[in-house]
Amino acid sequence: MKTLSHYLNGQLSAGQSQRTSPVYNPATGEQSAQVALATADETREAVRIADEAFVAWSKTSPLKRSRILFKFKALVEEHTDELARLISSEHGKVFSDAKGEVTRGLEVVEFACGIPHLQKGEHSMNVGTGVDSYSMMQPLGVCAGISPFNFPAMVPMWMFPIALACGNTFVMKPSEKDPSTPLRLAELLKEAGLPDGVFNVINGDKEAVDVLLTDERVQAVSFVGSTPIAEYIYATASAHGKRVQALGGAKNHMVIMPDADLDQAVGALMGAAYGSAGERCMAISVAVPVGEETANRLREKLVAELDKLTVGPGLVDGPDNDMGPLITREHREKVAGYIQTGVDEGAELVVDGRQTTIDGAGDGYFIGGSLFDHVTPSMRIHSEEIFGPVLAIARVASFDEAVSMINAHEYGNGTAIFTRDGDAARQYCEQIQVGMVGVNVPIPVPMAFHSFGGWKRSLFGPLHMHGPDGVRFYTRMKTITQRWPSGIREETNHFTMPTM
Ligand code: NAD
Repeated sequence: MKTLSHYLNGQLSAGQSQRTSPVYNPATGEQSAQVALATADETREAVRIADEAFVAWSKTSPLKRSRILFKFKALVEEHTDELARLISSEHGKVFSDAKGEVTRGLEVVEFACGIPHLQKGEHSMNVGTGVDSYSMMQPLGVCAGISPFNFPAMVPMWMFPIALACGNTFVMKPSEKDPSTPLRLAELLKEAGLPDGVFNVINGDKEAVDVLLTDERVQAVSFVGSTPIAEYIYATASAHGKRVQALGGAKNHMVIMPDADLDQAVGALMGAAYGSAGERCMAISVAVPVGEETANRLREKLVAELDKLTVGPGLVDGPDNDMGPLITREHREKVAGYIQTGVDEGAELVVDGRQTTIDGAGDGYFIGGSLFDHVTPSMRIHSEEIFGPVLAIARVASFDEAVSMINAHEYGNGTAIFTRDGDAARQYCEQIQVGMVGVNVPIPVPMAFHSFGGWKRSLFGPLHMHGPDGVRFYTRMKTITQRWPSGIREETNHFTMPTM
């Protein structure tokens, strides 16, 4: 059995611990590898390596750091298909989706290539008589990243390109469910010219994570995952004096106004609810049609579209399926359990994905797309994150009712409104308590040069990921106020252009 281990000091490094975790191909249910789970000592060693590498890397000029990232970008582009195959074989998402994930990650690398400009700081002359002030944005030191299973390439790439560009060194702790892609990214970084020790990957579970949260050499922790763990990460790492951004779970609503282009809204909903088998933190899991007529028409169109949804392996010869399997057998059972909960709670199960026949599914962790109608806010299928291909229709009578229902929800990651009414759209953007809002855009993931993050229990910490917040998160500002005696060099006090 292949054992995936760590990437330390510029090379793959076999784990010392006896603990491992199985890695499966979700499309077949077969174990493809096992991943080493680092001990606390191995994790401390990763931190030591990154701490040592910080001395030279933080003094490397931004231009040189940027040039390495430019090379990394070219290498990732060259290896996109290979990376997408790796993602699909361990995560299960379809190939086109996996390629899209690599592209979204690359956009953050492109943003980070602009670091000489982004890290310039500010300057003011004559803030007092003969006094100037300027600020510098200095790197923090060793930064840690802890990522979830659902984007094994993109989420690490939300973090390390900007951290490295700013002059930090990094210890990445990927999800133990699909660890191969971050290891391959580490090799590509080395090929791009990144000095050894600047980027390290430690595979593991809570034992490794707890070292990253408490070791005094780690200055900042970026986390993406479920809300209970995000909350734990934020509380523990903050209590140990670290800067933390911890992104959590989600339950995202799409409001469909009576005047919306319904075909456009349904097309958007199908991708947003069922794409990547609903295992996206920005997936739409609740459709909120305003008015009975909108709801009835929406439901009818969704049922027709669900009939055409193709479910099957992510890697196939020929056209992609619309959606692949879920990540694990346990997760499929959890999603199936939520479908039963919805039925027991009194929601109407219009399409039951548990009954979907899937050609060639074998022992893969497949489940078809499900649709509920007449879902109300008190039901668990509305209040909890299912993280699977289950869409709920929650009918409301008015725009105001839609806004109140969404604002009362504990999560606030993403949301969308579909309408032709500019005023409704504007009111929605202003009133909704959600971090990322789409107007006729179902999955409003901000581009890399903007920042990504939710509100409420979808994000712990003040700074969002990538974009301007990413640069702020990975740098510390220092402001210098300086006065130099003036008037003592009267005769040379006028400036002349030097001759070339
Ligand atoms: P998870 O919380 O189970 O795991 C995330 C990471 O935390 C993994 O690296 C895991 O090894 C580690 N971890 C798990 N339990 C831990 C513990 N007790 N102590 C310390 N570390 C622990 O999340 P997941 O199942 O991998 O990912 C799915 C979740 O991530 C969903 O809730 C989804 O909404 C969320 N997510 C959020 C965003 C966002 O931007 N807000 C993006 C992607 C995924």
